[in-house]
Amino acid sequence: MQIDSTLTPFVPPVRTAMRLSRYFLPNLRETPKEAEIASHRLMLRAGLIRQQSAGIYSWLPLGLRVLNKITAIIREEQVRAGAQEILMPTIQPADLWRESGRYDAYGKEMLRIRDRHDREMLYGPTNEEMVTDIARAYVRSYKDLPLNLYHIQWKFRDEIRPRFGTMRSREFLMKDAYSFDIDAEEARHSYNRMFTAYLRTFSRLGLKAIPMQADTGPIGGDLSHEFIILASTGESEVFCHQDFLDFPIPAADTDFEDKEALQAIFDRWTSLYAATSEKHDPATFEAIAPAKQVSARGIEVGHIFYFGTKYSEPFGLSVAGSDGRDHLLHMGSYGIGPSRLVAALIEANHDEAGIIWPDPVAPFHVSLLNLKVGDEATDVAARRIETALTARGFDVLYDDRDERPGAKFATADLIGSPWQVLVGPKSLAEGKVEVKRRATGERELLSVEDAVERIA
Ligand code: ATP
Ligand code: MG
Ligand code: MG
Ligand code: MG
Repeated sequence: MQIDSTLTPFVPPVRTAMRLSRYFLPNLRETPKEAEIASHRLMLRAGLIRQQSAGIYSWLPLGLRVLNKITAIIREEQVRAGAQEILMPTIQPADLWRESGRYDAYGKEMLRIRDRHDREMLYGPTNEEMVTDIARAYVRSYKDLPLNLYHIQWKFRDEIRPRFGTMRSREFLMKDAYSFDIDAEEARHSYNRMFTAYLRTFSRLGLKAIPMQADTGPIGGDLSHEFIILASTGESEVFCHQDFLDFPIPAADTDFEDKEALQAIFDRWTSLYAATSEKHDPATFEAIAPAKQVSARGIEVGHIFYFGTKYSEPFGLSVAGSDGRDHLLHMGSYGIGPSRLVAALIEANHDEAGIIWPDPVAPFHVSLLNLKVGDEATDVAARRIETALTARGFDVLYDDRDERPGAKFATADLIGSPWQVLVGPKSLAEGKVEVKRRATGERELLSVEDAVERIA
């Protein structure tokens, strides 16, 4: 497991053993026909989510476990990079958005609401306005800077075409961070902090995300990168140099205070061509050796922006600098989509039988299968393994249902725990249980003790 020992996780991990006989895991036998892509089908079939209306989902226990593991990793890397967590509301007053001029500009993607006093409100699609209002209220001097505030909160965008399940939903979870700096040079450092944090975050999730030059869209600004993972079902058309796929990821002990070190990371990761279709320059791309040209579909999993004084100016967010003069703050914003990431992770990790979770985000690390419930020796051995693995800090889902082995194998493969331990009377007669690796299908017959040791 990739638990980072240099940081205490935000939420201390509570290791749990769950009995499948009592676990709320509504698996579907049939493949839902509304689902066009594998991740959507598998999320419905394996009981991760339930659609409540177009683009709006409930998260069921298994899905929520994955979402929480993703946000835990995101938090660790945000904190490492110097950001501080807050929580802003989902509902915002329209007046804030009138100050920036975006209330009218945002268009139909914004869900507009009126309260009982006929005041105009909205369900936040993003939080630049609100966080600028917070900074305006409290930040007084250059000594309060740099400042980076982030939250992990539900957003609503009335997407014209919600589809692919949580990949493009209307209500979705976002981690959005906002940086405040005294000038452009400091803001650059803040941008590089998040750039580096994103490289680490996606890599820890088991994904290869490539930062690509991107359009700034309605957020505005002039420096922007989208973090894209390559996938045939992706909605973006992207172009990049193949070497990016094997670039080394910045280490955990990267000094985020070291401006030059972070600039070097940024320079390296932007030294080769990588662009989304909006920013694509065919001439530059075609100058790359043909064997190194990657032209593919991609999924946008993160997006970072530097937009200078675009919001601080209309909001009048300025503070006294060390020179005694007033300075408009330079800002950036930095988004990641954890609920989209659940789908993206499945797109990248599945086979015919089901999901194959990368270790760091697996809802359960081990599926423990009792192949003959009621057989005393089998029950005792299974419980011993359950206890031993839980004590070692693994999340175990114990299939103690009164079902035939075939059904248990299918469930285990579908929900995709990285490890399976199969306990049945036949191998137990020889003092063995079977350990199976979900990703490769590799199986080993081991003693109970060795099986527990084998799980890593
Ligand atoms: P897209 O191009 O896919 O519409 P966006 O550019 O509008 O996304 P941003 O405003 O950059 O999205 O938001 C930051 C992140 O939030 C995105 O990189 C993505 O991971 C996530 N996100 C945006 N829209 C959705 C959505 N409809 N469903 C799920 N996640 C989303
Ligand atoms: Mg969008
Ligand atoms: Mg986009
Ligand atoms: Mg974007």
